[in-house]
Amino acid sequence: MKMRPYQLSALQLDDFTVAGYSVAGEESVIVVPQLDCVFDIGKCPREALTVNHVLMSHGHMDHIAGLPYYFSQRDFQGISNGVALVPADLVGPLEDLMAAWGRVEGHVPPHRFVGMRHGEDHEIRRGLIARAFATRHMAGSLGFAVIDVRQKLKGEFAELTGPQIVELKKKGVQITNRVEYPLVAYLGDTDKASYAALPHVAQAKALLIECTFFDAEHVSRARAGKHLHVIDLPEVLEGMSNEHIVITHVTRRTNMAMARKILRKVLPKDVLSRITFLMSRRYIEEA
Ligand SMILES: [Zn+2]
Ligand SMILES: [Zn+2]
Repeated sequence: MKMRPYQLSALQLDDFTVAGYSVAGEESVIVVPQLDCVFDIGKCPREALTVNHVLMSHGHMDHIAGLPYYFSQRDFQGISNGVALVPADLVGPLEDLMAAWGRVEGHVPPHRFVGMRHGEDHEIRRGLIARAFATRHMAGSLGFAVIDVRQKLKGEFAELTGPQIVELKKKGVQITNRVEYPLVAYLGDTDKASYAALPHVAQAKALLIECTFFDAEHVSRARAGKHLHVIDLPEVLEGMSNEHIVITHVTRRTNMAMARKILRKVLPKDVLSRITFLMSRRYIEEA
């Protein structure tokens, strides 16, 4: 028997950490502790228990298996207030699943599912929201953007003193604009689509994008499974201004040296310089 050490890979992107394990068909979970969220839950690694928001892209087992365990384990450890944002159609089946676990285990742990649809927001904490958007993978599947929302003083009031601003506020003048700074956008699993049309995706500091297949012979597999193939990346990344582009969800058989070589061929330099893989070569190839 071969022993495989299990460990998340971590990337430090400016002021936040992205730590995850993402291998197609096996497990996908990406924790961003500073944003108090995890994108998909995989088999619920220990690190995922510490964040209060689970952002679920779709119901495939390798992405969602650990969700009942998340609520059960947090209950066991005395951590409350966990919430899972899930595609709206999954709320019913997930409640059934929790009830079934209740019959297996003897009790149902506290849990909360919030059904999400394209364009809906959910507040993570004051000034930080998660916005769902439709993806092309399975019925109701979603991606999520986590957005920093700030009130910015309108340009015309920039020269005013503190007391003058207070005076305007008293009069009920709207002196600020709501400005959104998208931080991370997660596409989950997806076929080709024009995500660059969504500003909260195109302008997110970090884009987490799947690229399941790199082998030229696997284009039809990508289409059948509604996944991205490396040949799709130039088109999907067109118009994206993300500082960091993180590739997730590669297959276990992917040779990372080869994958990097292909990327260099298909992508322009300015895009290439922004790309990292979430999984290190070691974790993919040692298995
Ligand atoms: Zn997947
Ligand atoms: Zn999937």
